[in-house]
Amino acid sequence: MSSNKNKTSLVWFRNDLRIQDNTSLSKAILESNTVIAIYCFDKRQFKTDKFGFKKTERYRAKFLIETVQDLKTQLQKLNIPLYVYFDNTELCIAKLEKCFNFDALYLQKEWTNEENNILDKVKNIWHKNFPIYELYNQFLYHPEDVNFELDKFPKIFTEFRKNVEKHSKIRTIKSIYNTNFNKDLIENNKTKIPTLKELGFANFTTHPNSAFPFKGGETEALKRLNNYFFETKKLGFYKKTRNGLIGTNFSSKFSPWLANGSLSAKTIYWKVKEFETLYFKNQSTYWLIFELIWRDYFKYVSMQHQSKIFKIGGILEKKYNWHTNSEEVNKWINGKTNQPFVNANMIELQKTGWMSNRGRQNVASYFTKTLQLDWRIGAAYFESLLLDYDVHSNYGNWMYVAGVGNDPRDRKFNVKLQADRYDTNGNYQRLWLQNTLF
Ligand SMILES: Cc1cc2nc3c(=O)[nH]c(=O)nc-3n(C[C@H](O)[C@H](O)[C@H](O)COP(=O)(O)OP(=O)(O)OC[C@H]3O[C@@H](n4cnc5c(N)ncnc54)[C@H](O)[C@@H]3O)c2cc1C
Repeated sequence: MSSNKNKTSLVWFRNDLRIQDNTSLSKAILESNTVIAIYCFDKRQFKTDKFGFKKTERYRAKFLIETVQDLKTQLQKLNIPLYVYFDNTELCIAKLEKCFNFDALYLQKEWTNEENNILDKVKNIWHKNFPIYELYNQFLYHPEDVNFELDKFPKIFTEFRKNVEKHSKIRTIKSIYNTNFNKDLIENNKTKIPTLKELGFANFTTHPNSAFPFKGGETEALKRLNNYFFETKKLGFYKKTRNGLIGTNFSSKFSPWLANGSLSAKTIYWKVKEFETLYFKNQSTYWLIFELIWRDYFKYVSMQHQSKIFKIGGILEKKYNWHTNSEEVNKWINGKTNQPFVNANMIELQKTGWMSNRGRQNVASYFTKTLQLDWRIGAAYFESLLLDYDVHSNYGNWMYVAGVGNDPRDRKFNVKLQADRYDTNGNYQRLWLQNTLF
């Protein structure tokens, strides 16, 4: 254990907005005698993208504000001030650097375009003699623990899953350190978390039918985990209910917290193990881990293929004749297609920022395979609206459904049959299409 005192470190929070199981934070605490934290609502994340959508819509903006509020409170308990800004990240870090003369910078390692570009800008302003520690902490299976080289990464999900399950172990979670940092640091921090209005949105209340009525932040994430696993034991039925469409409990709903890192995949894994020891182990308890392996898989896909995941041909570099008819796109967005099941899902997304996995597969298949619209437009719309937008899972799943990703079967969903099977009585469609005939 190193104890390098007289060292002031900066922890730059990105998509790792939590205290527990946070490698950058715990390493900084261990190696420093003063730790300052920063989170920046980067202005570029609130601009309009090339398809005309706001990169971040109001649902995720509100969730992020709640998340950062909770993070600030949790950090204060460790006497670590969280400086929060609404500006370009590199400018904020430059501003803080002038006040504190940091000796080291700690952050979660990311590899996608926008994150890399921002880090490059930060590196340009960061004084050169001091180290920058970039640490992976978003995986279930850490990249150092897998037994393949990235260029030999198994292309098919099942191969990947079998490989990691056989050869790799999931790391345990280290406890949080007690700190005896100077309390004055908290008092001196005068920065404020931006309001929804300051981020450019009007206040709103959560839709009464939302399947995701939860708040952002690590505290809420752990509360949800405790409720889904231990209070209601819904985990034990997950495999049977996971294709549901209505309500809070058909699936775990962990994704928005996982996406911004207020909950870690490893935390979920070790809680599943605890549940299995305390109660029972069945296909459902395993299946939640199975789904988390999908999450890892798309991270490895994007790591291997880098910016190809944003290109029209995807990682397969396939050439299709994609359309861009804006009238068709708008009908899809506003729930005005000739498929009521697609419409219900799109309206749910528009009104809540949430859509089930079953819904996502159907609306994306309809967009790409039936309407043959450029899949990147659909993906960009999801990026804007989704509470749980995650670059790897979103672009990975969209490529997969569009037939430019990893699906060896290149399927097309029969939306009508899917609706009959998963919404047999039409309750879900009625919920979102109350005033529309279907
Ligand atoms: C077109 C499309 C776009 C998607 N975009 C996103 C996105 O931006 N962010 C996102 O987190 N998920 C995305 N998904 C995956 C999936 O729909 C959501 O993770 C899931 O619906 C979240 O609900 P849950 O947390 O209740 O999931 P559960 O069923 O409870 O699963 C537990 C966790 O496993 C992971 N998981 C489950 N299914 C998948 C999957 N297919 N791919 C990757 N991880 C998965 C998620 O982290 C999820 O929270 C997308 C799927 C499709 C088809």
